[in-house]
Amino acid sequence: MKMPKQVRIYCPFCKKHTIHDVDRVKKGRASSLNWIVRQKRRRSGIGNSGKFSKVPGGDKPTKKVFLKYKCTECKKAHQKPGFRVSKLEFVE
Ligand SMILES: [Zn+2]
Repeated sequence: MKMPKQVRIYCPFCKKHTIHDVDRVKKGRASSLNWIVRQKRRRSGIGNSGKFSKVPGGDKPTKKVFLKYKCTECKKAHQKPGFRVSKLEFVE
């Protein structure tokens, strides 16, 4: 998906449509799954391991992206709900 670097959308601070700079929100550190690892270890041994018997799923083909919209008039940034896309690039 191609995304323009500047879009004209509604600014909730100016309460009108203004030009916004689009920026991709940087992904934070991947959430640690250490607690699952600990749970798994406790169940290892005899018998069915319950929900941990499931085969782990692969990586999803699309990633969710979050975009930040910065108003060029009031310089305030706001976000819209993220959406799933396989590839995102910015075009002039
Ligand atoms: Zn604004």
